[in-house]
Order: sequence, then structure tokens, then C-alpha cells
Amino acid sequence: MTQTVELTVKEIHQLAYDVLMSNGCDEHNANAIATTVSSAERDGSESHGLFRIPGYVGSMCSGKVNGKAKPTLETVTPAILRMNGDHGYTPLAIQRGIPELAKAAKHLGIAAMSIINTYHFAALWPETEALAEHGLVGMAFTAYKPKVAPAGATQALFGTNPISVAWPRPGHSPWVFDMATSAKALGDIQIAARDGHSVPAGTGLDRDGNTTTDPSKIADGGVLLPFGGHKGSAIATMVELFAAGLTGEQFSFEAGESDIEDGGPARGGELLLAMSPQLIAGDNWQAHCEAFFEKLEDLGSRLPGQRRHENRAKDGKRRVNAKLVEQINALRI
Ligand code: NDP
Repeated sequence: MTQTVELTVKEIHQLAYDVLMSNGCDEHNANAIATTVSSAERDGSESHGLFRIPGYVGSMCSGKVNGKAKPTLETVTPAILRMNGDHGYTPLAIQRGIPELAKAAKHLGIAAMSIINTYHFAALWPETEALAEHGLVGMAFTAYKPKVAPAGATQALFGTNPISVAWPRPGHSPWVFDMATSAKALGDIQIAARDGHSVPAGTGLDRDGNTTTDPSKIADGGVLLPFGGHKGSAIATMVELFAAGLTGEQFSFEAGESDIEDGGPARGGELLLAMSPQLIAGDNWQAHCEAFFEKLEDLGSRLPGQRRHENRAKDGKRRVNAKLVEQINALRI
């Protein structure tokens, strides 16, 4: 059985903050990343919690990522913002950009922000939920390094290319989904390999192009498959175009070619869209949508995001892999 230790969310934040500070982050970046990581642990999103810290540290130690990045925002038009992340990790760029994006969308009805010169190693729900808290519909797209074969192929071209959409529900948690467009996220494959679990058939292929349920064969030279066959493949292509074509940042294959494989993420872009239901649909939008959510829940369907929001509401300590905590503590300089 996997050994775990119990830590409060505050202790998880502190552990991440201290290790990031001792490996080259300034306090703003360390705090933004530690908040992202501890929020993931709080919500039970293990693959984007402390699990990512060795990678965050690895890319600062290699000199690839700037731990003291100072993101700058350019207003291209009133509705189009461009956040330059100064070769840092995305959490600080996102933290600083969201209020400006929200202000633009509340005024204009719709606004977009591209995030460039950054390294994305996190889930996307923090940014889309933050927009929903402003009463806006939030959408986020990012690409990664190639690990997913397009439908019908056996070689990787796409990243695991996640999409998140959050819908504001004043008085309730937002409706929010956040999903890789691969059959499984790479972090989950790595965790399954680490813990000796198998994965469902259809998740990926081994290095010879054969179907496998062994996550270590997918992780080591194999490929993931898109979810939903050709439909997921089309959506993964759309994410490449939104996150790279529309931001000017690297497509996954370009990120794969330029990356130095130091355990952290490759440089890549993110596209954020924000829309105001109040301005687009008018005064009745909330009651109209709540009636829809009621119908959906009446059918017994659990809403995406609900698992995380229920975890979030729980007080007390979170269970974290004991070896991982040891590994992170050993990274303190
Ligand atoms: P999952 O397949 O676990 O979940 C995807 C979505 O479906 C979540 O919103 C989840 O909500 C919801 N969901 C899961 N089960 C159900 C159910 N039974 N009924 C209704 N809704 C359900 O996520 P993935 O493995 O695809 O992705 C995990 C994370 O990896 C994401 O946060 C993604 O952003 C991140 N990622 C980041 C990358 C990067 O480059 N930065 C690359 C790829 C992925 P809930 O959370 O409440 O369970």
C-alpha cells in the first residue's frame, strides 16, 4: 500500500513555498505557485499538487525558467490583452492578468488574454473559476509537449492539451470542467506507473504502436490517445490552434523540439476567454440557467467540478504521498 503523510493545506503551501524560495523563486512567484499547488491538494487534484514541485524546481535549476519573473500586460485593443510572462511559470501571470481580463469582459461583453513566454505546469480550473467568481464565463486552453497521437496515427503530435470552462452560478460553486483532451492526463499516467496500477485499454499505445494497459509502457516511449477517437482528435487540434496559433506561442511539436527535458514543462502559450452572460444574454440569464442546472441534476448526473468542490469544503489535513514529501524536503537547499 502507498504510504502517506497528513498535512494541512497551510503546511502544503508552506512546504511548496520554502522549497521554491530556496531554489530561485522570488516571494511573488513562490507564493503564486504554492497557492496553485496547495489548492490542487486541497481539492484532491493530486496530479497537479505537490507532485509537480520537483518539476518546477528542476526547470529553475536548469536555468530554463525564471523564478523571479515579472509578468507585463499589454493592452492590444480594449478587448485583447497580451500577458508576457517573462519566462516564468504561469501562476503569477494568471494572478495578475485575471482582474484586467475580467474588467475588460465586464465592460465589453467579451475579452481575450493570451499568455506568452511562460511555462504551464498546472490545472486550468484556477483561472476559469477565478473568472466565474467575477460573474463571467471563463474558458482556458493550453498545449504541452507532444505525447498524444492524432486519431489514426501512432506517433505523437499533440500535447495532452487541456480545456477548462467555468460557468458562473452566483450563490453556488461554478459549473466547471477541466480536462485533458487525451484519454488520461500524463500526470495520472505517471502516478499510475509509480503506484503499479493499470489503465483502461484505449488510453495509449506502447513504443511499437500496440495497445497497452501498462502505464509505464505509455510513459516510456509510448503515446497517449485522444479521448473519443476522431472527435477528441479534432478538439485537441483546436486546442493547439487556440493555445499556439492564436497566441503566437509554440505548438506542442515545437515545444518538444526546443525543450531541454529538465523534468519541468516546455515553454508554451495559454489562451483565456471571458464572456459576460449579463451583457450577452441579458437580465434573465441566471434564472434561465439555474432552471437548466436543476433539470440536469434531477436526472442524477453529477456536475463536473463537484468532486473538487466537495473536497474543498472539507476541513482538516490532506493525505500526501510520503516518498514525495521526502523527495521535496530533500530539494531544500
Ligand atoms: P478528469 O478526467 O479527471 O476530469 C475531467 C473533468 O470531468 C473534471 O472537470 C471532472 O470534475 C469531471 N468529471 C470526472 N468524473 C466525472 C463524473 N463521473 N461525472 C461528471 N464529471 C466528471 O481530468 P483529466 O485527467 O482529463 O485532467 C486532469 C487535470 O490535468 C486537469 O486539471 C487539466 O487541466 C490538467 N492538465 C494540465 C496540462 C498542462 O499542460 N498544464 C496538460 C493536461 C492536463 P472533478 O474534478 O470534480 O472530478
